[in-house]
Amino acid sequence: MDLKFSEQDEAYRKKLLDWLASSGELISRTMQGTDDSGERNPMQAMRDWQKHLYEAGYVGMSWPKIYGGYEASLTEQVIANEELARAKIPPSLNTVGLTIVAPTMIQHGSEEQKQKYLKRILRAEDIWCQGFSEPGAGSDLASLKTNAVLDGDNFVVNGQKVWTSAGHIADMCVLLVRTNRDAPKREGITYLLADMKSEGITIRPLRNAGGGSHFNEVFFDDVKIPKENMVGELHGGWAIARSTLDNERSGLSGVVALEANFKRLLQLTESASIGGEPAIEDAHTRDQLAQYWIEIEGLKYLGYRTLSEQLKGQKPGSQASVGKLFASKLRQAMAKNALEIVGPYAALTKKSPHVMDRGRWVAGYFDSLGYGIGGGTSEIMHNVIAERVLELPRSVED
Ligand SMILES: Cc1cc2nc3c(=O)[nH]c(=O)nc-3n(C[C@H](O)[C@H](O)[C@H](O)COP(=O)(O)OP(=O)(O)OC[C@H]3O[C@@H](n4cnc5c(N)ncnc54)[C@H](O)[C@@H]3O)c2cc1C
Repeated sequence: MDLKFSEQDEAYRKKLLDWLASSGELISRTMQGTDDSGERNPMQAMRDWQKHLYEAGYVGMSWPKIYGGYEASLTEQVIANEELARAKIPPSLNTVGLTIVAPTMIQHGSEEQKQKYLKRILRAEDIWCQGFSEPGAGSDLASLKTNAVLDGDNFVVNGQKVWTSAGHIADMCVLLVRTNRDAPKREGITYLLADMKSEGITIRPLRNAGGGSHFNEVFFDDVKIPKENMVGELHGGWAIARSTLDNERSGLSGVVALEANFKRLLQLTESASIGGEPAIEDAHTRDQLAQYWIEIEGLKYLGYRTLSEQLKGQKPGSQASVGKLFASKLRQAMAKNALEIVGPYAALTKKSPHVMDRGRWVAGYFDSLGYGIGGGTSEIMHNVIAERVLELPRSVED
């Protein structure tokens, strides 16, 4: 891996910076959540922003050109990552579509599916969600019970999914269903693409401990899904689900978000005090900040290694679990540290006149706990690393 920037790379960086400077109006409209007529419409503003970003060449950078991507070099992707993070541009509305669904579809989807969905994901025309977990199937995902029966040209789906992030705004869903109850549990699962507007789908929001409502329960009651929306073979969904999870974990290391969290924490240490002195002057706090920064940099280079392997055509594989585990622990450590600095102010609600930073720190702490669960819990990441990276024997047979 060579990360030296050539003259050509620096010219690419300049082009990106010029483009960012000329996009200021759209960036502020997206931040304010208004559409082009000035009306408040955060969803439309986010869709417009992603389309703008895509048309300039900064979404789908590593994707094959035939599916609307740019086949950009590794260094171009690194430069774009750095500069877009530095510019604090709005996050993508379609993270699941871009980082989880599309790589799986490129690898396993039919040509027709790729042509139909991939460009729409790039332009945020379809927002996607992931319908894997169920009330009785999270870590042990292969125990899922949502049932699908092939009836003529359609699957008829009945059952329930849970913790479906963005389910309430999604147009489409990657859905795991059981199609053979008599087979061993991993051999009776099929991978489908469900239209979230289909008749028979009911979505109920769930509230998390931080007060947010980003995920949902999704109920399927005789929902018809056309047979052509099956990815791969009938009963062959488990291997595809595994590659979706590897893609999810490789994306979840989220260095850009960690850098943003770190910068906010740094600002907090400059404004809050410990023992009457600015927190930034406290030796222990300074040590911790330095350690966080070192770990974020380590994670960044681990991410570049994964990206470099992906660009050579290798799958993200189990090493993505190392990044996911490390990133969620780091995020939790920073969030806990912020609460310690905020001290008793952490107990105040958003509406209190004395609340610090509109209650961001306590909400951030609760959100950070979810990162050790979503996409596979930290305990499961330890198991994956032990078995698939270190090749240790399985502790429990299933
Ligand atoms: C913020 C967030 C977003 C999410 N978004 C989605 C989404 O969009 N789509 C989706 O399908 N799901 C989503 N999930 C669900 C997530 O994938 C599951 O919560 C996760 O896989 C754990 O499953 P569970 O909640 O059923 O816990 P369980 O599997 O019941 O686990 C309970 C506890 O037991 C431990 N445990 C279980 N098995 C083992 C084992 N073999 N060895 C050691 N310890 C074990 C776990 O680590 C955990 O601490 C999301 C979850 C969160 C928190």
